[in-house]
Amino acid sequence: MVIVMAQFKVENRIWDPAETTPRDELRRLQIERLKDCVGRVANVPFYKEAFASHGISADSIRSLDDLRRLPFTTKEDLRQHYPLGFLAVPREKVVRVHGSSGTTGKPTFVAYTARDIDTWSNLCARFLVAGGLRPEHFVQIAFGYGLFTGGFGLHQGVEKVGATIVPASAGNTPRQIMLMCDLNVQVLICTPSYALNIAEAARDHGMSPEQIPLKFGHFGAEPWTEDMRIRIEQELGVAAFNNYGLSEVIGPGVSGECTLQQGMHIQEDHFIVECVHPDTLEPVAIGEAGELVFTTITKEAFPLIRYRTRDIARLDDTPCRCGRTTVRMSRVIGRTDDMLIIRGVNVFPSQIEEALLRVEGTSPHYQIELDRPGALDQVTVRVEVRPEDFSDRMREMQALRDRIDREIHAITGLRMNVELVKPQSLERFQGKAKRVIDRRQMKVE
Ligand code: ADP
Ligand code: ZN
Repeated sequence: MVIVMAQFKVENRIWDPAETTPRDELRRLQIERLKDCVGRVANVPFYKEAFASHGISADSIRSLDDLRRLPFTTKEDLRQHYPLGFLAVPREKVVRVHGSSGTTGKPTFVAYTARDIDTWSNLCARFLVAGGLRPEHFVQIAFGYGLFTGGFGLHQGVEKVGATIVPASAGNTPRQIMLMCDLNVQVLICTPSYALNIAEAARDHGMSPEQIPLKFGHFGAEPWTEDMRIRIEQELGVAAFNNYGLSEVIGPGVSGECTLQQGMHIQEDHFIVECVHPDTLEPVAIGEAGELVFTTITKEAFPLIRYRTRDIARLDDTPCRCGRTTVRMSRVIGRTDDMLIIRGVNVFPSQIEEALLRVEGTSPHYQIELDRPGALDQVTVRVEVRPEDFSDRMREMQALRDRIDREIHAITGLRMNVELVKPQSLERFQGKAKRVIDRRQMKVE
C-alpha cells in the first residue's frame, strides 16, 4: 500500500511482524508476560509490601482484569525510592542508567539490562520504519545525548534499522542546517519546537523549504498540536510524525505514528495501557480523555506496574488501515502537572497553542505568564507575529489581537491579555520548550 502524503510518498512497511499480532493472541501474550512480570517485581521492596497487603502473587494473575487489583506506581513513589530502589535485577546486570529530564523537579533514574536496551532499540526501530525510515536514509539526531532518553533511544533505533546516523545532538542551529544540507540528510529527529527553530533559522539564511533536503521528521518529547504539525510540514517541506515515550516506561518507543498519522500505535506486546480518570482512577470509556497508565511487561531492570504518566490522551481501538493491530493513542493533550487552573477553569498550554495557530499572522512562538496581582488570576499570552505580518500600524495589530482573543475565548472559555511581540523576541529552546511562567506559585513560597 502506498499512502500519498502532502509532500511525498511514504510506503507502509512493518519492521516487526509482532506489530500485527491478532488481538486475541496479543491478549494471551500480555497475560503471560504480566504474570511473569509480577513474579519478577515481587522482591522490589515497594511491590513486595503492596502485594503482601493486597494478597497478590504471580499465580493470582489469570486475566487482564486482574491488572486492576495491582497497585499504581507514581513519580512520587520513584522519588521516595531514589535513586534506584525499584531495581528488579542485581546491579551487575545493569548496563545503562538514564534519567527523566527533570521537567517537574529532581530527575528520577531508570536502569536497563542488555536485553532491555535491545528491546528498546527494536521498539524505536518499529516506529521509525512505520514513519518511513529506510536503511538508505541519512538521519540527523538533534536530541541531546545524555541522561535524557531521547538522544540514545532514537540513536539505537536508527542503528537497528541500519540507516546512517548524523549524531548532531541538540543546539548550534546554524551547524544543524549546514550538516543537513552538506550531507543531504533526509530525516530529522528532535522536539517539534526545535524543528521549528531550525526552520526559522533556515528561512533567515534565505533558504526556501525546497532547498532543505529533509523529507520527513520524527518529533516527540513534548506536547504539540495538529496545527503545529502543519506549520512544521510546510516550513521544512517534510512529513512530520509524532512519537511518544517517557523514561520511566522505557523512553521513546512506547508509541509512534504510522504513515496514516492518525494516532500513535502503542507497543502493546511490551506495555499494557490503561486510560483512567486522574481523580477517581477508574477507567474512562474508550475515546474519552484520561491519564495514561502503563505496565511494562517485558522490562527486566526497571519494571513498573501501573505507572501513572500524568499524561492526558485518548485511546482508539478501531482497526488501522496500516495493518498494525495495536491500540492507538491521541496526541498528548497535556500533562496533569502542566494543567493550569485559571480562575477555576482547567486549561492546558496546548489549547492556547491551538488557538494561536488558528489565527493567520501568528508564529508558533509563544509564552504564557500567570500572575495574581489581587484576588484574581491574570494571564498574559505573548505571541510573536510573523515577520511579514508585523506592522507599525496600530489598527492592524489591534485587529490581530482581537482575533487571537476570540480564538482563545472560544477554546478555553477565558479572557486573557494578548501581547503581540516582535519576531525573534521570545526565548528559543533546543530541547523541550518551556512556555509557562507561573508567578502565582512563586508568590506562595
Ligand atoms: P520529564 O518527565 O522530566 O519530561 P522524560 O524525558 O521522560 O521526562 O519525558 C517524558 C514526558 O515527555 C512524557 O511523560 C510526556 O509528558 C512528554 N512527551 C514525550 N513524548 C511526547 C509526545 N509525542 N507528545 C507529547 N508529550 C510527549
Ligand atoms: Zn496505523
